[in-house]
Amino acid sequence: MENKLNIDGRLIPEVDCSKPLIMAGPCSAETENQVIDTARQIAAMGVKVFRAGIWKPRTRPNAFEGVGSEGLQWLRSIKEETGMKIAVEVANVKHIYEALKNGVDILWIGARTSANPFAVQEIADSLRGVNVTVLVKNPVNPDIELWIGALERINAAGITNIGAIHRGFSGYGKSNYRNSPHWQIPIELRRRIPGLYIINDPSHISGKREMIMELCQTAIDLDFDGLMVETHCNPEQAWSDADQQITPQHLDYIIKNLVMRKQDVCDKNAETLEEMRLHIDKLDDEVLQVLEQRMNIAEKIGIFKKANNVTILQSARWSDLMKKRINAGLSKGLSEAFVQKIYLAIHEESIQRQKMVMNK
Ligand code: PEP
Ligand code: MN
Repeated sequence: MENKLNIDGRLIPEVDCSKPLIMAGPCSAETENQVIDTARQIAAMGVKVFRAGIWKPRTRPNAFEGVGSEGLQWLRSIKEETGMKIAVEVANVKHIYEALKNGVDILWIGARTSANPFAVQEIADSLRGVNVTVLVKNPVNPDIELWIGALERINAAGITNIGAIHRGFSGYGKSNYRNSPHWQIPIELRRRIPGLYIINDPSHISGKREMIMELCQTAIDLDFDGLMVETHCNPEQAWSDADQQITPQHLDYIIKNLVMRKQDVCDKNAETLEEMRLHIDKLDDEVLQVLEQRMNIAEKIGIFKKANNVTILQSARWSDLMKKRINAGLSKGLSEAFVQKIYLAIHEESIQRQKMVMNK
């Protein structure tokens, strides 16, 4: 499906949004001193956008749910003093009303809200005719259509200063990440909506400050337009998301050490890159041919099983195969998780094929 969004080339009017656009500030505004102290340090580094949560969507009740509208006055004075633009999360019409009344420049829709089309539509309806920048975080679940749908709803209300924030996707079970990045999803978003600003949020992806720098670099390598990094004057004592916030000094270090790579590598190198790409194309061809052969054999097995009245799935064979493939993969330097994912997909397709021939 073609996705046509009417996008203004400038994400935030009056701000130089060239790469990498940095947005920083605490997970939550906690006290007037905390936001002002953090903001002054961030502004001194040249950051142009200050973020802070005023209303916090918490997983469990009785956690700190934000200071509410009072904090908007603190943000307003930060804007006046430092000239930074102010970004705040909004989840309903009241939040929008309060934020706009207090001069907030950028509204962002959080991951829990963008997963709910009713909520997004209500937000969109209340933004009709308003001149403001809106950033849409990916929904908590890895559903690109839902993410695009939210962007479309906001855009259809006339908001053209629109961008996306990639903050990772929740999953069940143990993982290195708080929210898995599934990088292929923002990459696909870029393909589907060329020209859309995509900002990476390494804080909510990692959940821990030690990983922020490498995630920032990955995002830059993948051609993201900017970074939104949770930054706090005293991260250990933060009232929310303490493990993932970094100090302004830490942020400064990251920004100064980011390696910006060239989009198009010139002359000699370009040829090598081109060659490497051709090589990859060729290998992918081979991978697909092998898969075709494998599925043809799966069909033959289906015919055999039908003739001999054998069930499609033989669990012992399947778990034995998976173990062997994982070991073989490990010896080739392929991670267990990767091999497992590939074989789950292959197996599913195999069963599909066998079902087709058995039910003919
Ligand atoms: C946040 O940015 O503080 C936040 C709550 O983010 P998300 O909606 O990505 O969880
Ligand atoms: Mn947070």
